[in-house]
Amino acid sequence: MKIGVLGLQGGVYEHVYMLRRAFQELGWQGEAVVVKKPQHLHGLDGIIVPGGESTTIGIVARRIGLLEPLRDAVKEGLPAFGTCAGAVMLAAKARDRVVGEKSQPLIGAMSIEVIRNYFGRQRESFEVDLEVEGVEGRFRGVFIRSPAIVKAEGDAKIISWLKSGDSLVGVAAIQGPHLATSFHPELTGDTRIHKLWLQNIKR
Ligand code: GLN
Repeated sequence: MKIGVLGLQGGVYEHVYMLRRAFQELGWQGEAVVVKKPQHLHGLDGIIVPGGESTTIGIVARRIGLLEPLRDAVKEGLPAFGTCAGAVMLAAKARDRVVGEKSQPLIGAMSIEVIRNYFGRQRESFEVDLEVEGVEGRFRGVFIRSPAIVKAEGDAKIISWLKSGDSLVGVAAIQGPHLATSFHPELTGDTRIHKLWLQNIKR
């Protein structure tokens, strides 16, 4: 199995590291590669879109001619896993909590709608124990300027919820081979969410 990590900006190597550990723990032959050019998409069994800044990731991907091939590959069935900014990239629709709807290039493979920076600014970052469907026990969610998943349509399904003020918002969603998390499982050293996705996409 060969998994790519989109390597334009953000927490790229954290995912490479987590993938290598997950393969080891699963006892699978697996390779994790960094994707920086369209030709790096060839032969992948899945792609991770990391956290960082979704506007930057989208704009850079478009500028270097990677956005369209990536979008096509994912729409044609390349499984994708997006964390935080990566979840924003996978969403069909994104708006910002403060500045509202601002057009930004997205991959848009999941029928979910997100609100960027939902929980506030960098200094409002937090950690909380979550329940995630498919993961046994609690999972430590690390939230850094994270989006909330406020709508899931069609066969997209929210698999983790968080109470924020008076609202209950989605913080992880699954749709076929795609997975999106508002939080950063790559920063916890806990490979269970990576393994959940890998097991889900294994052919
Ligand atoms: N706020 C960022 C965005 O909307 C995501 C932050 C993150 O990935 N930690 O793109």
